[in-house]
Amino acid sequence: MTDVWDVLVVGGGPAGAAAALRAKQLRPGAAVLLLDRDDFPRDKACGDGIAAHGRDELALLGLPDLIADYRPTQRLSVISPGGVRVSARVARPNHVVPRMVFDARLVEAARARGVEVRRHRVRSLTAHDGRVVVDGELTARAVVAADGAHSTLRRLLGARPTPERHTAIAVRGYADMPDDEDAQLIAMQRAGWPAYAWAFPIGDGTANVGFGMLLPTLHATGLPGRQVLHGRLAELLPRLPARDLRAHHLPLSPGRPKPGVGRVLFAGDAASLINPLTGEGIYYALLSGRLAGEAAVLSAGDPLAAYRRRLRAALGRHLFTTDVLARAAQSPGFIDAAIATAARRPEVFDLLVEVGLGAGTVPAPLAAAVVSRWIRTNLGARG
Ligand SMILES: Cc1cc2nc3c(=O)[nH]c(=O)nc-3n(C[C@H](O)[C@H](O)[C@H](O)COP(=O)(O)OP(=O)(O)OC[C@H]3O[C@@H](n4cnc5c(N)ncnc54)[C@H](O)[C@@H]3O)c2cc1C
Repeated sequence: MTDVWDVLVVGGGPAGAAAALRAKQLRPGAAVLLLDRDDFPRDKACGDGIAAHGRDELALLGLPDLIADYRPTQRLSVISPGGVRVSARVARPNHVVPRMVFDARLVEAARARGVEVRRHRVRSLTAHDGRVVVDGELTARAVVAADGAHSTLRRLLGARPTPERHTAIAVRGYADMPDDEDAQLIAMQRAGWPAYAWAFPIGDGTANVGFGMLLPTLHATGLPGRQVLHGRLAELLPRLPARDLRAHHLPLSPGRPKPGVGRVLFAGDAASLINPLTGEGIYYALLSGRLAGEAAVLSAGDPLAAYRRRLRAALGRHLFTTDVLARAAQSPGFIDAAIATAARRPEVFDLLVEVGLGAGTVPAPLAAAVVSRWIRTNLGARG
């Protein structure tokens, strides 16, 4: 029996599994415990889209072939709120892997590396003498809170919740789709902007389809969430009737808290690390989980300071970029202009993919143009 765990991870999604895998990869002798309230395989409402950047993270975790049996998707089609369309080959292919499969594989890989995995719902947490005690029975030197969008640990530690204006909600389902369809589709919608539907073919005769919007916009309709989300999905993708519909919140990165408290490090959705422009979160969950696992075993004296430094180095400029762009993107005209530019210039298309799915930033001159355009649009709207 382990008296004190070196790293205790709460949540076995991509963030938690990455933290546990990295801790064991760097310190094979470390005692690492992974708790999840569910057994795996378990479903998670998601578009199942795994960007090339997510695959880079898998390689860093020593799992380069984890999803190699899934077909790469080479094309991306985007329809802007005003109907401008771009369809192009992505510089590096994306994958679509049902979370029922992906998360279970990650947890299994962690178990195979020596991580102890237990089914356990965490309800309480106390800290004293450089230790964290979970549910009065499990003691750890460092805890990674990777317990998702409604993080119990974040709430217990008094960290601020993601403000509603920075929270989205999305529903996903599965629909039949021919095997040879291999373009991912994102169809944005001016009504209730920002809002979009997606269809991501898996390559097995089905596609993940869904629709997402900001929470305040949904509330402003005054209608039941189910009615709005299911209705808009059916309206936007009429030829792809969806089954297994399931919705979940998306805490977007402009509403992120400090990345931890004391010896508890927040990762993935628990740290509100979802891209506000695309709703992509798996890559950021894998990345932040990996960095949290690293900090927990390599900087046991002050893991939070080390985690904050690593996170800032990896994502600081990107998060600043998406904070600014998310504000500019409140104007659908701005997105129309960006998509129209991307349709004409492949390098802008690639740049948008890097910003929307990876850790990309916008070069300074383009950033200045974006900010000044945003100010002009704002002043114009007010004047
Ligand atoms: C509809 C929808 C579509 C999306 N589409 C995409 C997409 O296509 N691509 C993409 O990259 N991102 C997408 N996202 C975002 C992505 O799903 C998340 O960013 C990602 O799941 C975050 O991973 P995580 O490990 O932080 O959290 P999660 O995957 O939510 O995992 C958290 C885990 O913590 C466990 N847990 C929770 N509370 C406790 C507790 N108290 N005790 C123990 N365990 C607990 C849960 O059981 C769960 O297993 C989408 C989100 C939604 C809602």
